[in-house]
Amino acid sequence: MLPDPIHILKTVYGYDAFRGRQAEIVRHVMAGNNAFVLMPTGGGKSLCYQIPALARPGMGLVVSPLIALMADQVAALRQAGVRAAALNSDLPGEERRALWRDIRGGTLDLLYVAPETLLKPDVVDRLATVPLSLIAIDEAHCLSQWGHDFRPSYRQLDALVARFPDTPRMALTATADTPTRAEILAHLNIAESDAFIADFDRPNIRYAIQEKDNPRAQLKRFLMDHEGESGIVYCLSKRRTEETAAWLCAQGYDALAYHGGMDKAAREANQARFQHGEAIIMVATIAFGMGIDKPDVRFVAHIDLPGSIEAYYQETGRAGRDGLPADALMLYGMEDIALRTRFIEESEAPDQRKRMERQKLDSLLGLTETAGCRRQALLSYFGDRCQPCGNCDTCAEPPHLFDGTIAAQKALSCIYRTGERFGQAYVVDVLVGAEDERIASFGHDRLSTYGIGKEHDKRTWRAILRQLIALRLVDVDLSGHGGLSIAEDGRDFLRDKATLMLRVPAAPRPARGKLAHR
Ligand code: ADP
Ligand code: ZN
Repeated sequence: MLPDPIHILKTVYGYDAFRGRQAEIVRHVMAGNNAFVLMPTGGGKSLCYQIPALARPGMGLVVSPLIALMADQVAALRQAGVRAAALNSDLPGEERRALWRDIRGGTLDLLYVAPETLLKPDVVDRLATVPLSLIAIDEAHCLSQWGHDFRPSYRQLDALVARFPDTPRMALTATADTPTRAEILAHLNIAESDAFIADFDRPNIRYAIQEKDNPRAQLKRFLMDHEGESGIVYCLSKRRTEETAAWLCAQGYDALAYHGGMDKAAREANQARFQHGEAIIMVATIAFGMGIDKPDVRFVAHIDLPGSIEAYYQETGRAGRDGLPADALMLYGMEDIALRTRFIEESEAPDQRKRMERQKLDSLLGLTETAGCRRQALLSYFGDRCQPCGNCDTCAEPPHLFDGTIAAQKALSCIYRTGERFGQAYVVDVLVGAEDERIASFGHDRLSTYGIGKEHDKRTWRAILRQLIALRLVDVDLSGHGGLSIAEDGRDFLRDKATLMLRVPAAPRPARGKLAHR
């Protein structure tokens, strides 16, 4: 019989109880099953593989991308009396030989390995001669080709699956949207039924998203609810960070700046003041974040569009760690969207990468434009669900809606008639009846859906499609060419002749010249 996981939790780690889904995951893996674990940062992923590795016979193999991270983990484990070690290319010859003696002798509980090291044929061959309790792949999103942390060596880890088909394998990550998750499961051959998705909800954070109108006035109004409290204001550029911090100081706030262009000492001094001080506003670029451990951050404001839904979730997640009410405000402008779109279009990235970036931007815009509960939209991005929360701006004050039933039917039938393989721009062109060589060459100008959407302009159609994607009526093929297809819910919608309310797309605002004056 295997040891009791609770006993290990208490004696090795000194904790009284498992958190969230840890107990379930540990039991599942101890029984010899695979697992995919999606949990926010700080959620406690490490125990999910460490305890089964300790309980099961053999050595646990942990793939981790960063040598520094591995060293920290190993040091902490050894402190707790666990026989752990890291195998990497930095290891001097003598230590390396000693480590292999331990591995062969079966005296190790956990071995951390960098993927590059693990893929060397002699390393795999030698590991094949020792009993393995499990293989855990940490930061598994690194194998996603379209993610920001893609590592080619992670991509080759499927060789490990082939080599050790009967060893339970785990993939763990904090950042995986639905397509990335599907990619990880497929690549490592882990079943959907082995996926454990943690509760991503942060119920004490109130979400509000507003279109940028007069950002300084909007920020000031927001801060009025937070007199005497500490919080973070995120900006896109170093310059805006400095300008905003200076402006806030002039308004009588205690505001500090933080960005990558500042020298290290100044940055660290500001971080320390924020960490220990009261009623301090940190005005920062995304460079500020790692290692913030302040429980009473009462608000996070984004005065520019954040990088992605994941980034937004992570950045807003720095508020309210103490569980008390906290506020998140996002301001977004059409200029932000135009700027971001231009970055993507003008980048040197391969086409497929650009498509992925566009899709990520669209998901984010879907969140800003959703007619429904923000929390629902945010959680659905991570595959999590909730009831309308009553603690976000759209719940508190539902936005103006129009009956989008006909528009949605037109859009879906246009996607259907063109064969469910074309991207957003093409579908919109067919809807508005654009004269286009490609449309003519496919004969799509003769479809009944050609030009059936003339009542809206292209911008409105794009906004409608984004909402349909956000509502999961339409799927986007990310591994291919970004083609749109009708999702399960979309088919239900058509069949049930349901009514669909959509948010009125924000009107374009007159151009105001320079971006710096946004
Ligand atoms: P992740 O890898 O998901 O970011 P970690 O595994 O590093 O998170 O865990 C985050 C922190 O929570 C660590 O300090 C860890 O010791 C602690 N922790 C994890 N599980 C428990 C638990 N069941 N009880 C108390 N503390 C826990
Ligand atoms: Zn809500």
